[in-house]
Amino acid sequence: MNFHIMTLFPEMIDECLGTSITGRAVKNGYISINAVNIRDYTLDKHNKVDDYTYGGGAGMLMQAQPVYDCYKAIEKKLVSEKKPRVIYVTPQGSVFDQKMAQDFAQEDDLVFLCGHYEGIDERVLEEIVTDYVSIGDYVLTGGELPAMVMVDAIARLVPGVLNNHDSALTESFHDNLLEYPQYSRPEEWMGKKVPEILLSGDHAKVDKWRLEQSIERTKERRPDLYEKWLEDHPPVPEKKTLRRHKRKQSLTDKEQTD
Ligand code: SAM
Repeated sequence: MNFHIMTLFPEMIDECLGTSITGRAVKNGYISINAVNIRDYTLDKHNKVDDYTYGGGAGMLMQAQPVYDCYKAIEKKLVSEKKPRVIYVTPQGSVFDQKMAQDFAQEDDLVFLCGHYEGIDERVLEEIVTDYVSIGDYVLTGGELPAMVMVDAIARLVPGVLNNHDSALTESFHDNLLEYPQYSRPEEWMGKKVPEILLSGDHAKVDKWRLEQSIERTKERRPDLYEKWLEDHPPVPEKKTLRRHKRKQSLTDKEQTD
């Protein structure tokens, strides 16, 4: 997967995403990260990329021309021939979540556009942007941090990026559940013992315990997610209730035929 990031601060992207797991993924060829400086495309003789907003108001706005030319230069380097998804990171977008990360991870190329100042001239957004995505309901000074948050979350879903791809399947938000509590050595720390069941070696029991813990934790910490999980996993009626329900149903059916 190739990430192309349009930014005024490419060094921020290179420094941050060039380290740790994303850095290793780049070295091993699973992903590429191409941070492109929008300023390199300005036609202004003073290298300016921003100007006043029409209609007045505080602050400056990024101009359409350098952003558009920067995008056109990226377009020439894409692997796939189809128009790429171009994500403008903005507080005015849909809020990023794991489902979106999974959806974006299917692409060969993804283009991110990072704004600054008061944002970007609407006309170029209309021309190139396919997705408006936010990282939450607060306003940051620039789009680099949100873009990096998204690239990180998407990159770790690309096969090969994580050493153990399975971990992405048991992590929080998979199937609308938060992950269960985890423990490492030693068995006892500050008087707190690792739950006995995790030492039992019985994988079926461990799996059952983990699922129960995930459900409990989600119910307690994220009732909104728990509700979604419940919708997909309606409680199975207990056998007794089921039998009573069936008996009631057959009586009603009988009444209707009589
Ligand atoms: N005037 C804009 C508004 O009210 O919507 C906010 C501009 S903000 C100061 C500058 C840039 O930071 C935005 O263009 C966007 O790229 C980025 N940004 C700020 N907050 C963000 C958020 N919550 N999610 C994604 N991007 C954000």
